[in-house]
Amino acid sequence: MNLDQIAETYVKLVLAVGEHDDSYVDAYIGPAVWRDEVRLQATPLKALLVQAGELLEHVSVLPPAPEEQAERQTFLRLQIAAVRAHVAYLDGKTLPFDDESKVLYDAVSPALTPTDLDTTLAELAALLPGEGDLNQRLSSYNKQFEIPREKLDAVFSAAINEARERTRKYIPLPENESFRVEYVSGKVWSAYNWYKGNSHSLIEVNTDFPMFISRAIDLASHEAYPGHHVFNVLIENELVKQKGWVEYAVYPLYSPMSFLAEGSANYGIEVAFPHAERMAFEKQVLFPLAGIDPEKAERYYQIQAVLQRLSYAGNMVAKQYLDGEINRDTAIAMLMKYSLSDADRSAQRIRFIEKLRSYVINYNLGQDVVQAYIEQRTGTQDQDVRWAVLTDLLRKPKSASMMI
Ligand SMILES: [Zn+2]
Repeated sequence: MNLDQIAETYVKLVLAVGEHDDSYVDAYIGPAVWRDEVRLQATPLKALLVQAGELLEHVSVLPPAPEEQAERQTFLRLQIAAVRAHVAYLDGKTLPFDDESKVLYDAVSPALTPTDLDTTLAELAALLPGEGDLNQRLSSYNKQFEIPREKLDAVFSAAINEARERTRKYIPLPENESFRVEYVSGKVWSAYNWYKGNSHSLIEVNTDFPMFISRAIDLASHEAYPGHHVFNVLIENELVKQKGWVEYAVYPLYSPMSFLAEGSANYGIEVAFPHAERMAFEKQVLFPLAGIDPEKAERYYQIQAVLQRLSYAGNMVAKQYLDGEINRDTAIAMLMKYSLSDADRSAQRIRFIEKLRSYVINYNLGQDVVQAYIEQRTGTQDQDVRWAVLTDLLRKPKSASMMI
């Protein structure tokens, strides 16, 4: 089998796995007939496990390829290894957290102990008004930064339009590129980008919980510009259509693709909105639109920056919970203590962890790996260079071990 044949077999294999797990195929823009074909075949998991093993064997014995093809080959091999691991998981084989993240996302989150987080919590205690329980203090402080439900669409639209304008200055996108936003409920995530093909995305925003003002730019950049929507547009137009790299016609959620997608989408927030520019836009546009006092923006974002450093607590809790070291109640209590999310959000977070498991590492570790990769290559804070390296990474996808 040559690389193109392996790629086509891989696409059909991912679609076949998707028949057993409806969260698996995040996007598919290949021929409809391939999907019809696998649907008719209805291959059982055990047979898919064998097929995945054979395909991994085929891709592993390919001779070394020159330059661009070499990276393509390496990435596809890691994708196929992840498919095989997910089929085994669906067939009942659960791996320890770190082993699972290594085979699915090609990365392992650094070990962390609660003491690592105590310094950050102390720093927060000094910044937040009031006394006593930190979780409650943060909750009551945050209340003033909720976007009223009736203003949510206006605020989110303003953020996404600004993110789009900024991104289009640096990344050439097709004229017909477009998105639609819908507000939904009853989900384990706060927002989701569904890529529909032909440069179009459906962005769903979950209204189960109040949306805080900091989330407007975060979600606009992460889900759309220069995040998931843009990544998918580049993949479709440049990799699938121009280069004919058919493996990119399918996006299996539990795979190294997600490490790059989530990591670059999170890092992209800062690329599109460097701190000073973000503060100006928040104060002049978003805070007034949401009816929130812009005078409060500086302290609020100072607190957000400290909170961001607590994000690895989520990986630690997920690992201990999924590895059976702590029970559900303890996991929720630890999220409340170290991630400082309130009881309801912590329960939502646990549902996310139960459903997506080690996927949680893609957000923070993904962001840190992408950031280190890009900043090593830019050396400066020069905007043009940073955008160029980010765009290049999205056009030539790399896994975690290819970036380190
Ligand atoms: Zn995402």
